[in-house]
Amino acid sequence: MYELTGKRIFVAGHGGMVGSAIMRTLAPEDCTLVTVERDDLDLRNQARVNEWMATNKPDVVIIAAAKVGGIYANNTYPAEFLYDNLMIQSNVIHAAHQQNVEKLLFLGSSCVYPKDAPQPIKEEYLLGGALEPTNKSYAIAKIAGLIMCASYNVQHKRDFISLMPTNLYGPGDNYHPENAHVPAALLRRFHEAKINNSPVVHVWGSGQPLRDFMHVDDLARACVFALKHYNEMPFLNVGTGDEISIADFAALVSDVVGYKGAIEFDRTKPDGTMRKVMDISKIQNLGWAPNIGLRQGLEQTYEIYCSDVYTVAQ
Ligand code: GDP
Repeated sequence: MYELTGKRIFVAGHGGMVGSAIMRTLAPEDCTLVTVERDDLDLRNQARVNEWMATNKPDVVIIAAAKVGGIYANNTYPAEFLYDNLMIQSNVIHAAHQQNVEKLLFLGSSCVYPKDAPQPIKEEYLLGGALEPTNKSYAIAKIAGLIMCASYNVQHKRDFISLMPTNLYGPGDNYHPENAHVPAALLRRFHEAKINNSPVVHVWGSGQPLRDFMHVDDLARACVFALKHYNEMPFLNVGTGDEISIADFAALVSDVVGYKGAIEFDRTKPDGTMRKVMDISKIQNLGWAPNIGLRQGLEQTYEIYCSDVYTVAQ
């Protein structure tokens, strides 16, 4: 058991969907949360990161800072997804090593696994086959990050752990019409269709891909749990272990929003990986389990979206 009491915890990316959920979850712990605004520290700048870490000396580092986006953004800006993520994670991991940080948590993604991995996906399937082309750059960066943590553990006896979260949704998501992930994109599209009485909503792809959607607060609980209870290699999956097709997910979002029109599939848009459901038996055996149901989580997220709609949906 690693004690967080009295520790200085740097949450890199505290303003994002994942970082802000981790901040909420850590708030009741008796520790000091250390953050820095993006305008004050560009995590892609190695010299600045080294200087900041030497000055602020955290005991624990959580890397929730990343360039993220949905299938369109990954496909359209692969250079940014590779460069920004490699720079951010390499700078923070190496600076944490130089400053003798006691514990570091790196967040990867379920897209690190091969496109045709057996399902549900076990941790050991990493690097067992070719990646999904639509998010290869992001996946390669995340694979580099988790191998980097493991390498520092081997060579320098560090305690740098990694979690591989499934598809996430929740408050603080990016609602950009093209760049968002599917939950935020559809919540917004169905909401706007309801307001505008549009007869039809278009959903990308065939509707057939299967995904495992998890509320970000469940991931945040898994992060705190793993910091306290996990110090092994190489890494742990985090998900719900349940899967839903994009067609059924769209119908659920439509129902949560209260949209009464039709749904059509736009097959000119890519499906991406056809099936991506996590095997979460390792983290479950350690004592963590998800506890926010998909409908319940989407209802909560939609309520917050509606209360923020004039600021977030610009
Ligand atoms: P992925 O798991 O990396 O593919 O992440 P996404 O959240 O971007 O997409 C998940 C699935 O939802 C893919 O099959 C998309 O084609 C499908 N999808 C349907 N409508 C949308 C949409 O409006 N935005 C996004 N991003 N995906 C959509």
